[in-house]
Amino acid sequence: MNAEEVLAQIAAEVSVCTKCPLHHSRKKAVPGEGPASSEIMFIGEGPGFHENEQGRPFVGAAGQFLDQLLAQAGLKRSEVWIGNVVKCRPPGNRDPLPEELAACDPYLERQIQAINPSIIVTLGRFSMGKFMPGAKISMVHGQMRKVGERYVIAMYHPAAALHQAALKPAILADFAKLPELLKQARAGLGRSASTAKAEEPPKEDPQQLSLF
Ligand code: URA
Ligand code: SF4
Repeated sequence: MNAEEVLAQIAAEVSVCTKCPLHHSRKKAVPGEGPASSEIMFIGEGPGFHENEQGRPFVGAAGQFLDQLLAQAGLKRSEVWIGNVVKCRPPGNRDPLPEELAACDPYLERQIQAINPSIIVTLGRFSMGKFMPGAKISMVHGQMRKVGERYVIAMYHPAAALHQAALKPAILADFAKLPELLKQARAGLGRSASTAKAEEPPKEDPQQLSLF
């Protein structure tokens, strides 16, 4: 199976999974989405109301803010992978419980193995906890750390930054650093942009061309 097929297989398993009680409140599972070739994976907490309706990650208010943050980093949603630590909506958007996180973790692990990204960006404390147990988000946000075979950057959750105005400058600044951190991560892993992902060809400057 290639990476794309592995991701499709995981999505199919998740849609009928009953490994934890969250399946009771599931309308649509949210396996996560994005190309198997993504260099960056963004990992949030779990589906909310709109995600549960649509089966897609970050489509509500936090998702709209995430789209803005991605644009600010020069990234398109279509070129990154976006998902969550739990794939089914916790009732009333409560925090996922430790046993739910543990039950769902193998799916995320398989997704990470299949995609093999250069960078994982954790959004919020539950996904940060998976990679940096015990870390304090206020201390480590925006810093890139090598964790195993890749780099991890913890960031505030977009929903938290939406509701706490004081966090907004920090999350904006952290996203703005992503292009530079991606270069560093590629260098640290001995990957080039072209092997990691086909880059867009440089645009021809129309003014320049008109000179000839
Ligand atoms: N918040 C999350 O953590 N994940 C989503 O998919 C949507 C909102
Ligand atoms: Fe299965 Fe994860 Fe959904 Fe729990 S949250 S039922 S482990 S897919």
